[in-house]
Amino acid sequence: MSKKTVRDIDVQGKKVLVRCDFNVPMDENKNITDNRRIVAALDTIKYLLENNSKIILCSHLGRPKGEVNPKYSLLPVAKELSRLLGKEVKLAKDVVGEDATNLTNNMAEGDIVLLENVRFEAGEEKNDEELSKKFASFAEVYVNDAFGTAHRAHSSTTGVASYLPAVSGFLIEKELKFLGSSLENPERPFVAILGGAKVSDKIGVIDSLLEKVDTLIIGGGMAYTFFKSMGYQVGNSLCELDKLDLAKSLMEKAEAKGVKLMLPIDNKVGKEFSNDTESKFVNSTEIPADWEGLDIGPKTIEMYAEELRNAKTVVWNGPLGAFEMEQFANGTNSIAKILSEVDATTIVGGGDSAAAVEKAGLASKFTHISTGGGASLEFLEGKKLPGIEALLEK
Ligand code: AMP
Repeated sequence: MSKKTVRDIDVQGKKVLVRCDFNVPMDENKNITDNRRIVAALDTIKYLLENNSKIILCSHLGRPKGEVNPKYSLLPVAKELSRLLGKEVKLAKDVVGEDATNLTNNMAEGDIVLLENVRFEAGEEKNDEELSKKFASFAEVYVNDAFGTAHRAHSSTTGVASYLPAVSGFLIEKELKFLGSSLENPERPFVAILGGAKVSDKIGVIDSLLEKVDTLIIGGGMAYTFFKSMGYQVGNSLCELDKLDLAKSLMEKAEAKGVKLMLPIDNKVGKEFSNDTESKFVNSTEIPADWEGLDIGPKTIEMYAEELRNAKTVVWNGPLGAFEMEQFANGTNSIAKILSEVDATTIVGGGDSAAAVEKAGLASKFTHISTGGGASLEFLEGKKLPGIEALLEK
């Protein structure tokens, strides 16, 4: 799949509507606590500035659910963007109302207007046609650079693309390159690491990756459903009893495909789901009743490390333990550290694993860290993302 990018279309002096993902975390005083999503949009915006475009930016922030709510105003984003660009970014008082219309009607080349939170409009998440047309009426070209919401068919991510020539920004281009092309023809051995709470959330991605990888490494809460399906006791560990057959069939599929499926051999178990609970290391076949598996153990880490050191391509999605608790973060942090050192293409599929890599300060040592959690998972599952599908083919 190859989609046109902002480089493949004439934007010189044109009005360009750019859908960004400015859904940044803020503290209670509306200070942005992590501006990376804003920084990630700068390349596309700067390119448009160099081409004298009239730039109209839009994004969602949080979940205002179709109602105007000052708590979710993009004002802090407008300020941060102005600071980063060293240039005024005007915030419209509404999304497609009078103020947005006036501001976008009166732009000079190089001006930047940010529309208010697109989710203040009830039609946004319904992909409402009238709203999509209204967005389109503001501009001559549509650029989608919001990978994090590309799996949602909303007015500003998908609907609007029916009414304007639609291309990707540089951020989406990069995501497609790493999550798409580089995983289609990966350098081998190709290893996937999947963690997280539940097997049920990852069925699609496990199934799809089993078609491609040489080794599939499993960690996190979902490992215990596999153990249970093999007849082991898992104590109070997370376990989806209605997914035992599924776990079995995934293991059979791995065997049939010649994929090496690796499960933890030891675990850090806790008495309770809390950071200061009593804990100990046990083998996977010996999880005691009344204890729950909350992280992978040192033998597992070493076993996984050995596999990863030989890999040439690695994709990782989901933490290997309940990593929000310091006591059970070692597995996830160790894998992040090992991956930062291997001589391979390393791709992190967004969400918690990306957060763990960032927190450890290792982000620059990875080939690519996806900006999309749900979107990157769906993409890895091989699903078509509506926000990408809507863009023009190259
Ligand atoms: P997911 O959204 O499916 O990637 O799951 C991420 C969540 O899984 C994180 O909040 C982790 O704390 C949780 N998690 C990972 N391993 C375990 C485990 N062994 N027991 C309980 N929760 C876990």
